[in-house]
Amino acid sequence: MMKTYCSFCKKSSELVSMMVTGPEGRICDQCVAQAVQIIHLQKEDNLLNKIKPINLLTPQEIKAHLDTYVIGQEEAKKALSIAVYNHYKRLIHSAEVENDVVIEKSNILLVGETGTGKTYLARTLANLLEVPFCIIDATVLTEAGYVGEDVESIITRLLQAANYDIAAAERGIVYVDEIDKIARKGDNPSITRDVSGEGVQQSLLKLLEGSVVNAPPQGGRKHPDQRMAAVNTEKILFICGGAFDGISRTISNRINFKSIGFNASTKDTVSVEIEERDLLTYVSSADIKGYGLIPELVGRLPVIRGLQPLTQSDMRRILTEPKNALVKQYAKLFELDGITLTFTEETLDFIAAQAISLKLGARGLRSICESIMSEEMYMAPSTKDKKTLVIDKAYAAEQLSKTWVGLLKPQETAEQDGTLKIACA
Ligand code: ADP
Repeated sequence: MMKTYCSFCKKSSELVSMMVTGPEGRICDQCVAQAVQIIHLQKEDNLLNKIKPINLLTPQEIKAHLDTYVIGQEEAKKALSIAVYNHYKRLIHSAEVENDVVIEKSNILLVGETGTGKTYLARTLANLLEVPFCIIDATVLTEAGYVGEDVESIITRLLQAANYDIAAAERGIVYVDEIDKIARKGDNPSITRDVSGEGVQQSLLKLLEGSVVNAPPQGGRKHPDQRMAAVNTEKILFICGGAFDGISRTISNRINFKSIGFNASTKDTVSVEIEERDLLTYVSSADIKGYGLIPELVGRLPVIRGLQPLTQSDMRRILTEPKNALVKQYAKLFELDGITLTFTEETLDFIAAQAISLKLGARGLRSICESIMSEEMYMAPSTKDKKTLVIDKAYAAEQLSKTWVGLLKPQETAEQDGTLKIACA
């Protein structure tokens, strides 16, 4: 038989299994296989380009969006805006192979008391993003083999958020809430849960560092036969949040402020005035390590920001200013029944003060408002002639006293003069 040669690799027909002949030349089976591979890779690349975020918002634009929902927390908002912006840039430029400068991700750790807006910041960000996003509670995570969810479940959630598109999930953002709850707490072995938390931290570290995780797309143990999806976590941005109860003390000890809230002046330290509420903004990786997160994990969270506890005036603003402020929500609810609802300034101050004494952060605002409004929400829709409703402080205090009696301080209870001013017209 006559020897023929591949027009591409020049191999002779004896060295290959098959040679395809065309009008202008020949191609061997090996070159065909290689061509198929090239076409496949090119298709994947096109797909990646398709999921590129279309509009690259600047950090200032991202922060402006956060500003419309989240009151205060300027530093955290800035850090998140920068991180998300860089995340987008990293994704866009990851395709440029010639560029040998690899932009590494900067995962973020938010430290702040409960109800100060950590999760809310993450959620608000999610609304703006064009990449898959999920929130996971670290308290449900356990080491593989223990009762609870494996760390891989984070990736399962992200896959679900990405509509099971692995390439999209690999570019997502994950918010891990309550990360302080997996801090090392000493030796306390348990057969049902890895209470020491270190095992979970180690598993989480693998995700943060970047590894290929085989995640069950449908989640955990219910579907043991399902096929695993291999997801590379290298480009996933992680934002972690936690209250780290008691960390303020560590911070104040570290920076050697003898008296917090006063002018701290000693022989060998500079006199600096520091408010107790600002202490968290000085949080460092050393404090986090001291709290019980393993150094390797802390090392993977290079941006650490402390959130300030909310003041009464912040609470007051949260009630009325954000785009979906509680007062606006109640007004809308009543408006749908044809009733114009208003809260007096005094009432708003009262609610804000109650929220401070509840010590639940802004989370307490909703439960306080619900207690105040539930009676009217029950009654008003059936009262046909009611067109306006004004909630004054005395009424608010009276309604609240029915549910939060133990909590109210004497000076904050309703004046017992019998003048409940609910103006109905
Ligand atoms: P945590 O810091 O414990 O994660 P969240 O972010 O879940 O607290 O806050 C609970 C609720 O309180 C949010 O859903 C939001 O409505 C409100 N909230 C908390 N902080 C703020 C803030 N800084 N600005 C506006 N609303 C806030």
